[in-house]
Amino acid sequence: MSHAYSFTEQVNRQFDRAAVFTPHDAGLLEQIKRCNAVYRVAFPVRRDDGSVEVIEAWRAEHSQHKLPTKGGIRYSLGVNEDEVMALAALMSYKCAVVDVPFGGSKGGIRINRAHYSDGELERITRRYTFELIRKNFIGPGVDVPAPDFGSGEREMAWIADTYQAITAGELNALACVTGKPVGQGGIRGRREATGRGVYFGIREACRFGDDMRARGLSTGLGGKRVIVQGLGNVGFHAAKFLVEGGAVLVGIAEYEGGIYAPDGLDLDAVVAHRAENGSILDYPGAENITPSIRTLEMDCDILVPAALENQITAENAGRIQAKIIGEGANGPVTADADTILLDKNVLIIPDTYLNAGGVTVSYFEWLKNLSHVRFGRMEKRFEEGAYRKLLHAVENVTAHHFSEDEVSVFTRGAAEEDLVNSGLEETMVGSYNQIREAQVRHGCDLRTAAYVTAINKIVAAYGSLGLFP
Ligand code: GLU
Repeated sequence: MSHAYSFTEQVNRQFDRAAVFTPHDAGLLEQIKRCNAVYRVAFPVRRDDGSVEVIEAWRAEHSQHKLPTKGGIRYSLGVNEDEVMALAALMSYKCAVVDVPFGGSKGGIRINRAHYSDGELERITRRYTFELIRKNFIGPGVDVPAPDFGSGEREMAWIADTYQAITAGELNALACVTGKPVGQGGIRGRREATGRGVYFGIREACRFGDDMRARGLSTGLGGKRVIVQGLGNVGFHAAKFLVEGGAVLVGIAEYEGGIYAPDGLDLDAVVAHRAENGSILDYPGAENITPSIRTLEMDCDILVPAALENQITAENAGRIQAKIIGEGANGPVTADADTILLDKNVLIIPDTYLNAGGVTVSYFEWLKNLSHVRFGRMEKRFEEGAYRKLLHAVENVTAHHFSEDEVSVFTRGAAEEDLVNSGLEETMVGSYNQIREAQVRHGCDLRTAAYVTAINKIVAAYGSLGLFP
């Protein structure tokens, strides 16, 4: 029987595979790999029925080579110290890969959120925030949480409000957390950002003819058959943008089981079907797949695991038919499965790159909060005026008259969401080319290349601190 590696060990094995491609001192590599600080806390919460329950929670700060540290807070029964540490490490590498100037961190609250009322969740979230403040594990320049599995905008608003109440007068208080509602200091485009980033990353990967031909695929996203695991924020938006980009959604896996239809599924209709019936199963025209995990083994070109870690293991990796795996989730492929899939020539687009769209737009939100102004507010009208002058000049020279519709399309200045999506696309496309270049240079796989890139950037940051000249 093979040894069952913990999630942290999985991440460290992947780190070690990459470290051999770097020239750095063993001690320095060890410092980068280690989780710098973990705070574990237990606190009481008053349930609605008057009883008191003890809640267990964590915050792990993996690397302070850049500050603040950054990473989401997970609300799940599966949360434990090892998981939080592994996810914090992935955040450090992810931020480095996409040049987001943060260290990595992660938080977790061990609850099944479905068992708590809104009021109970609010009390848990506010108390957790208070505990982080007391130990200096949160703050705009210290550690900045965000949503993760089981949390969303509402929880982030509670965190921001608690922080602001306690640190009254701190000018940059709103930058203590990202993923907030737009009305409370959030940024347009953050909600869709991770899924949109997954789309940009897969689209970019499909642009390389050599990589596609090596897997018997044609260049471009058009017509490629996709299976998505998880219809949460990441999976839903990844599926939506991939379909808008020309791919065909043929399978979806959720808790209750999976559905598969070779001719394609209508994403919005599946979501409506689930809302009505409480399950994606029995969707008209699709085959039911149980257990859910078997959906990942169905015939497709691109598989996007966008739920949780450890989904593709040594047990099922041999049966995966996809030619491309796009890791929307953190750690969905174990280190053993990785080897099996690479032997099968599967192109794995790694989590440390592919799901970094979320933290990239979190970075934009943080910048917005620190600058206290919405992106586009200063220049939008000025740009529109400049485009209008240009159109008039063209009209004068060519004697062509632009219609009112043309004028409004051609002269539109960039609004906040346009700028966010532009920055996200630039980041995802640029970083893919960086890691692919490293992959070609070292003759390794993309995940290893992403780690090599991350390690080198983190070492450079340590150097600029004067710690490792
Ligand atoms: N929880 C997300 C992740 O795993 C987002 C983190 C963030 O925005 O800080 O990348």
